[in-house]
Amino acid sequence: MTTGRFAPSPSAPLHLGNLRTALLAWCASRCAGGRHLLRIEDLTTSSASDCSQSQMEDLAALGLDHDGEVVRQSMRSGLYEDAIGRLERAGRTYPCYCSRREVREASLAPHGPAPEGAYPGTCRDLSAAQRRSLERAGRRPALRLRSRGVAVTVRDRLLGEQRSVADDLVLRRADGVAAYNLAVVVDDVDQGVDLVVRGDDLWETTPRQVLLQRLLGFATPSYLHVPLVLGPDGRRLAKRDGAVTLAERAALGETVPQVVGMLAASAGLAVAGEELTAVDVAERFEVGRLRRDPWILSS
Ligand code: GLU
Repeated sequence: MTTGRFAPSPSAPLHLGNLRTALLAWCASRCAGGRHLLRIEDLTTSSASDCSQSQMEDLAALGLDHDGEVVRQSMRSGLYEDAIGRLERAGRTYPCYCSRREVREASLAPHGPAPEGAYPGTCRDLSAAQRRSLERAGRRPALRLRSRGVAVTVRDRLLGEQRSVADDLVLRRADGVAAYNLAVVVDDVDQGVDLVVRGDDLWETTPRQVLLQRLLGFATPSYLHVPLVLGPDGRRLAKRDGAVTLAERAALGETVPQVVGMLAASAGLAVAGEELTAVDVAERFEVGRLRRDPWILSS
């Protein structure tokens, strides 16, 4: 049975872009007659700024239910460490002492067909003495994957294929927390997810995740990356863009069926002005009908 999921980071209330991705992920799972899971990706969110409760209320208000318990990444560090341990034992990791700024600067230098911002391997071949001296200077290392410049081809149901060289991505950050790419790969396989629907801002990092799946012996799920919602200025939708949350749309007098209809229309699944339930949208969901361009929210 198909298993899909929605996996929000709880650091801010869901905006229309997140809600649209949530709707499409739910529709993709449900129209395949599958299970749909909810995972809170709270590895880097402090409990003070955790909005997961209001996020879950918004999803429920839109009629986007989920099966089973809600999973929180912050409770799963043991699983992530098991996977990291397997990569370590296979000789596929190394400590990296670079600061963010050093990585940014080094990654600006040309270094072949790797993704933008790719890590150029500064710490890959440090000697034991060099590592000791960095540690004595108080540097705490992150742990990176030794990717060995492998090119990976990944397929998306909407975007087609991309082939790119995966870089030496971070597996564990310097503060000891598992990195997003590692956690998402481990969680999806642990939860039996075989259908990943998410924003297309993550398409660029997908080859890294596919490489990790291969190294860990995991199956690759089917991917569907959906376009983002942008603000009137063409930047990624944000608070500055006005009424972007469900509560803010309600304050403008919009009902849930109007919001769902608007989200569906923006994705190519409804005509402007239709009022719909999530079930209505699932009934007409078809990857071939989805728009590939971002939706620019005008008001
Ligand atoms: N937590 C990620 C986000 O909120 C989504 C990760 C995923 O779906 O793989 O953008």
